[in-house]
Amino acid sequence: MNMVTPPAKDDKIRCDACPVMCYIKPGMMGACDRYANHDGELVRLDPHVILDRTVEQGGKLVPFHASSDWDGKLVHGSETFVTAIGAGTTYPDYKPAPFIVSSTVDGVDMVTVVTEGIFSYCGVKIKIDTDRFLGPERNLVRADGEPVGHVTTGEYGSQMLTLGGVHHLTGGSKKEGRVTCETLLDLANGKAVELQIDDGAKVVVQAGKAPIVNDVQEHLMRVGCGSATIGMFAKQWHGKVDEVVVVDDHITGVLSEHQAGKMLGIPETGIKMKGRRSTPGRYFQVAEPGTGWGGTNISDPLTILAPFDAKVAKPGLRLLMVSTTGEHYGYYELDEALRPVEKDLPPNLRQSVERIQENCEPALCTVLFMGGAGGSLRAGVTENPVGLTQSVKKALTHVTCGGAPVYVWPGGGITFMVDVTRVPENAFGYVPTPALVAPIEFTLPLADYAALGGHMDHVRPLSSLADGNKLAHQRGNVRVTTQNAESTPK
Ligand code: SF4
Repeated sequence: MNMVTPPAKDDKIRCDACPVMCYIKPGMMGACDRYANHDGELVRLDPHVILDRTVEQGGKLVPFHASSDWDGKLVHGSETFVTAIGAGTTYPDYKPAPFIVSSTVDGVDMVTVVTEGIFSYCGVKIKIDTDRFLGPERNLVRADGEPVGHVTTGEYGSQMLTLGGVHHLTGGSKKEGRVTCETLLDLANGKAVELQIDDGAKVVVQAGKAPIVNDVQEHLMRVGCGSATIGMFAKQWHGKVDEVVVVDDHITGVLSEHQAGKMLGIPETGIKMKGRRSTPGRYFQVAEPGTGWGGTNISDPLTILAPFDAKVAKPGLRLLMVSTTGEHYGYYELDEALRPVEKDLPPNLRQSVERIQENCEPALCTVLFMGGAGGSLRAGVTENPVGLTQSVKKALTHVTCGGAPVYVWPGGGITFMVDVTRVPENAFGYVPTPALVAPIEFTLPLADYAALGGHMDHVRPLSSLADGNKLAHQRGNVRVTTQNAESTPK
């Protein structure tokens, strides 16, 4: 390591990689489990990860927009990319980033500045694919009884949560900060976390896995709202049934009234819906939100129907009621008193219900880590920090998180989001300030780096990394440690 590690009394050494400034005894680790005192030397415990990009991105690729003439090979030569994972931190950030590595890509001298940033105000955005009602918007989300975030919006069959951020990490009690940090870390590293929403559901969230709501594993993400479902499948119902109601907490659809039904010439059926009519065949608020049919609180879909209009409805009228995932369905025929009587689903309608299910995608939890590299971290990259921000905004500097692509928000600072499932495993760490530690890399042409006021005297060639450093190559999901001769203190 290049870190300054002043000797201390009784062989302890001081870690200066974060504000905690641990004194670490020989053979022991610091408070974050990331650094240790190994025979009097401060060492980063995890190997530094480099990526074999071509393989990591799926293997055999034929470039579509090759930056140079095609060399006749089906598989393009792999590029090595230095991530910040395991690289270590510099604190305070006026010191150059731990590794500033030069390499040549397609004949251009590039530099990648890597550091494990300490993100004191970071958070995660979670998208949970479920129709089930998780809790009222703005209500607190708790982990281990502590408030760690809140419910934001429901959008397109997914429920959004926002966890972390400055107020939970630093603005509450010590325990709130610690639990929030732990929750964010587990989510970012792909572990399952149990969350309880005030006046709502208990939900187990794990990136890339189906959510578990109140101990029930979700399977399908809705095909669309009730109105969209009518649009998608109206033709398949035509001639096989007289009326279809797609029950949905957002927009419940009614075939005969819907524009799709009108275009197919489906006649009126005399159906009367409860709820608030939006436009023809589209109803809001047919029931309360819940964990029943289509994200409503109902288990009997007939409760959303008012009596049929006797002037229009006829005995024997065939009615299909189905949810937006096809998981709930019922088939009814009107009796002489125009009351729906449940019957077995005819085989020719079973196929259309199965088609709804088939068109649903698997329900997943998506976890986006959100951090801001707009603060002092930039000073570890350049002597003129605003230049880095401007360079990122002009797309001259490419930002990645553990080698994964990020979305950089417009506006001030370098606020980015990354899908944690695209980051190599266990890439995130923490320090007990509390804050998360996340890898971040800035890649740009060497000439631009010099013009930015970059720390040119700290630029080292890629080949120098192999000397004396623990390195791990990441190929797909497999991490291969290529040099790790030293024992790891525990
Ligand atoms: S918490 Fe970790 S990074 Fe911070 S000083 Fe202690 S050992 Fe170093």
